[in-house]
Amino acid sequence: MTRMLIIGPPGSGKGTQADRISERLGVVAISTGDIFRANVMGETPLGVEAKKYMDAGDFVPDSVTNKMVRDRLSEDDVENGFLLDGYPRTTAQVDYLDEILANGEQKLDFVLQLTADDEELVHRLLGRAKETGRSDDNEAVIRHRLDLYHEQTEAVVAKYAERGILTRVDGIGGIDEVTDRVMEAIKAPQTACP
Ligand code: AMP
Repeated sequence: MTRMLIIGPPGSGKGTQADRISERLGVVAISTGDIFRANVMGETPLGVEAKKYMDAGDFVPDSVTNKMVRDRLSEDDVENGFLLDGYPRTTAQVDYLDEILANGEQKLDFVLQLTADDEELVHRLLGRAKETGRSDDNEAVIRHRLDLYHEQTEAVVAKYAERGILTRVDGIGGIDEVTDRVMEAIKAPQTACP
């Protein structure tokens, strides 16, 4: 049973690593970005609302995101643990997640942060934009998403560091190389965080 988070700037490969960790640990990976994108594709009311923010590289408002996560975490497949990818991204979301977990008498085992340099991330994301045509992958929007990460999500990381459950992993390198580092860090989280 593992309950964990993966946090990283846009382009750090957190979605790819989340899928691999989920497979290896046998826990479900829940990506808020993927849930939003599925809703955008399906043109649901949630998708129509979220799209405005996503296209601009902004965060979807906490009120919308929190409710979506609460609903998702009430499903049966999270009973054996979960890996949340892309949530929480604001300190208000941290408080909300604390509440959900406390209500279920649950706690987080650890939080993994993938790190990467901004210029490397911009380079990677511009490459991804060419391949996938994601509407939030143009340079101005990419830089805005990175700014939000620094302004808001680093405060989230700091909170978990204070609680002593944060492990940082270098996200630069080949996909397999980073997965190896991540799996090592998961096995020995207390030694991986300086
Ligand atoms: P991602 O795939 O994780 O990069 O997420 C894509 C987009 O979905 C983000 O740029 C936000 O617009 C939105 N999003 C995903 N997770 C959250 C969250 N926890 N809070 C607010 N917006 C989010």
